Amino acid sequence: MPGTLTLVTTPIGNMGDLSPRAVATLQGAALICCEDTRRTGKLLHLAGITGVRMAVTNEHTEHDRIGEVLTLLDAGATVAVVSDAGTPGISDPGERLVAAAIAAGHVVSAVPGPAAVVMAAVISGIPAARFVYEGFIPRSGRERTERLADIAAEERTIVLYEAPHRLERTLTDLAEVCGGDRRVAVCRELTKMHEEVWRGTLDDAVEKAAASDPIGEHVIVLAGSPPPGPATDDDVERAVGAALDDGLSTKDAAAHVAAVLGVPKRTVYDVAVRLSSQRRQR
Ligand code: SAM
Repeated sequence: MPGTLTLVTTPIGNMGDLSPRAVATLQGAALICCEDTRRTGKLLHLAGITGVRMAVTNEHTEHDRIGEVLTLLDAGATVAVVSDAGTPGISDPGERLVAAAIAAGHVVSAVPGPAAVVMAAVISGIPAARFVYEGFIPRSGRERTERLADIAAEERTIVLYEAPHRLERTLTDLAEVCGGDRRVAVCRELTKMHEEVWRGTLDDAVEKAAASDPIGEHVIVLAGSPPPGPATDDDVERAVGAALDDGLSTKDAAAHVAAVLGVPKRTVYDVAVRLSSQRRQR
């Protein structure tokens, strides 16, 4: 029997979300890799799971755990990976064990279930057909500035995780780069007693965060940037000028700009001919 590394999702707040298959998989595992043995121990106790060994596997120790896990998988065992809450590997340990197990030719599977990112995306009221997960963005410096710029330009819905004491600052920064009227949903304490989804604009979200001293776990769901409008005459002229400056022929510049801006070739060609002849006369 081949060994299997199984990522087992656990509740993000409500124990009712622990699935029967998650319980059976944890009970049948030779080892449960977990972030915190006390926390996972409580979960196992509540689920009636007994006699399964746990090993601390957090961001600092995941790499050191690989050897032991591969030995168990080589012997045909099932090794389970859980995090403190939700889906392992989503802003939580798991990814390095998955990569090592795949590289060693083992089966990798999962017991799917709660993930705050998915729940927030689908209840936000913001289109979730296409979204990107940003997790926690960098806290400061150039990395943060660059990430915020990427987010501002992103056309798909964006999902971010944030700690309560940094929520106001992050919403303020988002309002600055995206504009205060961008739609946002702030999802708090999902699946828990005080679950709440606040929906509005970034400006209003900043005001609310400043007034209410947020507590609990939060997910921010941000509407994507509206797609750019149709190219104007100025856009075409600028792009053709740049293509000619780059040394493209009139015909090639017209074809290139027409493809990039989605404008009819004939229109661009007329502009390219005019600009080329102006340049020749200079
Ligand atoms: N692996 C987890 C998952 O699948 O969502 C995420 C773990 S990450 C360390 C913790 C962050 O996830 C929190 O700071 C918060 O942003 C988000 N989160 C987790 N549980 C949540 C909940 N019940 N309600 C809102 N956000 C939650």
